[in-house]
Amino acid sequence: MIKYNDLKRVNASFGEDLRAAVSRVTQSGWYLKGHEVEKFEKEFSAYTGVTYCVGVGNGLDALTAVLTAWKLMYGWNDGDEVIVPDNTFIATALAVSRTGLKPVLCEPHLEVPTIDETQIERLITPLTRAIIPVHLYGLMCNMDAINKIARKHKLKVLEDACQAHGAVYNSNSELQLSTLFGKRAGNNGNAAAFSFYPAKNLGCMGDGGAVTTNDKELATLVRSITNYGQTEKYVHDYMGFNSRLDELQAAVLSVKLQRLDKDNTRRIELAHYYSTHICHPAVELLPDITDNSHVYHVYAIKCKNPNYLRQLLLENGIETLIHYPIPIHRQKAYIDEASLHLPVSDHWADDELSLPLYPQMTDEEIQKVVDCINQNIF
Ligand SMILES: *Cc1c(COP(=O)(O)O)cnc(C)c1O
Repeated sequence: MIKYNDLKRVNASFGEDLRAAVSRVTQSGWYLKGHEVEKFEKEFSAYTGVTYCVGVGNGLDALTAVLTAWKLMYGWNDGDEVIVPDNTFIATALAVSRTGLKPVLCEPHLEVPTIDETQIERLITPLTRAIIPVHLYGLMCNMDAINKIARKHKLKVLEDACQAHGAVYNSNSELQLSTLFGKRAGNNGNAAAFSFYPAKNLGCMGDGGAVTTNDKELATLVRSITNYGQTEKYVHDYMGFNSRLDELQAAVLSVKLQRLDKDNTRRIELAHYYSTHICHPAVELLPDITDNSHVYHVYAIKCKNPNYLRQLLLENGIETLIHYPIPIHRQKAYIDEASLHLPVSDHWADDELSLPLYPQMTDEEIQKVVDCINQNIF
């Protein structure tokens, strides 16, 4: 059986180091707001290239905390608008809604899964306050264009970097004149949200997340908001909530961060193998990107009947997933958006299939997936 993602194998590959980290925290007698979180925050901000990192409970809360902070800092009102892609994990839109703001859904590109920046400006109204580009599947959005639009219309940019830990913007393109050239995901807007959900490129052993930013006021406010709005012990200036990264998860993340670049390189290598060896009339491959601007959280292909191919692969012992079968505007939770016409987003939902990919997969396994696709009729 080739699993879509084998977390047992992923974490076993860290061997004694993970066990030692867990044991250290277990024995420390200190489980929240301690040295492990402080250490990981320093390491992750240095890695990402930002000044501030605030550990939080999960990716959804990371997004929510930034929007809540901006609402306070800039006096945004309930119902103010935030532009988000329609094809994303629902957390991106939920963070906007639970902050009392309105998600405005935008189409993705046809060739790549990221938000179509050329469609953003027509969605801007006097109520628009921010844009949340999602580096979907691990591929960085066109941040030059998005930041340019944001500057022109005085909007905030919140990167949803939950699938793109370690991705580097335009690391090998002709756009090297960009001021963002060479910057990692999480350092290309006003703030960024990360999730350390176990299956992410950098994953812990439970829930975890972080906010990264170069804005001191924002970092301070996010830290306060995610700790009950506390500013001093038992002094609460805001109606915050409780969302903290715990010591155990931070210790695990410190171990795993050391190998993130190497693991991402292996992901890119495996993705490149798929892209250069899958050859089937019914399969459409996405661009083969090997310059670190795509860290392949997901390896996506397109085909006309993904559920059929999915079943066929499963019968041959290969697990796959669909990211995502229902776009936001077709979710019951967003019934008010059901009348929107977003055909490109629908197309991704209808045609996408995600192949197995994680750093510990062997060359033989990836070959088996390729052979199974190439040798079958569908
Ligand atoms: C995983 C993910 C989130 C949410 O992260 P959680 O830690 O599960 O809350 C948000 N946005 C995107 C794009 C994600 O992939």
